[in-house]
Amino acid sequence: MAGTMDTVNVLCLSCKCITPATRSGRCPDCRLAHQRSLENHPSRRTAKALRYNQEHRRLRAAYANAMAWGTAFACARCGQPITGEFHLDHVDGGSYPSHPYCNTSARSNP
Ligand SMILES: [Zn+2]
Ligand SMILES: [Zn+2]
Repeated sequence: MAGTMDTVNVLCLSCKCITPATRSGRCPDCRLAHQRSLENHPSRRTAKALRYNQEHRRLRAAYANAMAWGTAFACARCGQPITGEFHLDHVDGGSYPSHPYCNTSARSNP
């Protein structure tokens, strides 16, 4: 047996160029383009979830950053100031910081 299995090449699903086999079946360029097209496709639930997660992380980081710089936020659930840990909670269709225990109790006791 010669070591021919080291690199398995496939034809890219999109541009049909020869590319090392990957799970996506696309060359790196097309994989990126494909991911981008999924993100821009509102009817795809996975893309929507992906974008939501990115947005959620971005928003959460922005809140964390503002808090680190001394900006005070009130909990979206109980209205008390938040210090330290917080959750990015969903209230009235928006995302707002809340206490971890307020967010959790709101979920378990609707
Ligand atoms: Zn390609
Ligand atoms: Zn609270």
